[in-house]
Amino acid sequence: MQGHILVLSGPSGSGKSTLCNALKENFTNLFFSISTTTRLPRINEKNGREYFFTSKEEFLADIRENKFLEWAKVHNNYYGTSRIPVEKALEEGKLVVFDIDVQGHKNIRQYYPELTKSIFITTPNDLVLKSRLKQRNTDTEEIIQTRIKNAYQEMLSIDEFDYLIINDNIEESIRKILAIAHTLPCTRFDAKSICAKWKTIEK
Ligand code: ADP
Ligand code: 5GP
Repeated sequence: MQGHILVLSGPSGSGKSTLCNALKENFTNLFFSISTTTRLPRINEKNGREYFFTSKEEFLADIRENKFLEWAKVHNNYYGTSRIPVEKALEEGKLVVFDIDVQGHKNIRQYYPELTKSIFITTPNDLVLKSRLKQRNTDTEEIIQTRIKNAYQEMLSIDEFDYLIINDNIEESIRKILAIAHTLPCTRFDAKSICAKWKTIEK
């Protein structure tokens, strides 16, 4: 049994975590890949829930010990996906969801080309992105500036993704992401074994 992978990428502030929460509420067989990061926790973040927070030294040691399926430096911090929990969840047939950047998406797709579908999530424009980052009120002005500066570079990877959600109206975006996630089991099948099981009437 092998599960499915759904990668969510897009500029910081575009709504990935919000849409990911909608997935978590609606799918019981979902496994969210909690990344490890050297970024400092935000005020409302809890170690082991949004991320595993670690030091740069420990992160570099984990890279050397091959603990990451993929890792990248994003907005001046390190972020990595732990290998073992993802492999286990896939073996259990789960829907494995990643909130990772465009480099991470490239790598996951390379490792699991058959299992991976991906969604690029963005805002209608950069002004909306800026106002969402400000209104979220979790980052300093300097951090917000870096994220807005990097956003356009991330936008240039849109065509590497299977789906695009321009997250304007939140209810509409939630409907779209749930619809995409519901279709995943219909995208991959073993035709031979399905045909063999389907025919029950004897000649
Ligand atoms: P990301 O995980 O991509 O960095 P978040 O999910 O944290 O983004 O969203 C950034 C901010 O924008 C949050 O305060 C969130 O509540 C808000 N938000 C998300 N989607 C919408 C939307 N469609 N309309 C208005 N605000 C939104
Ligand atoms: P944030 O600091 O806003 O939580 O995340 C910053 C960026 O890092 C986002 O684009 C997020 O998707 C990405 N990210 C989070 N975890 C990982 C990871 O494990 N690998 C990669 N490549 N990117 C990650």
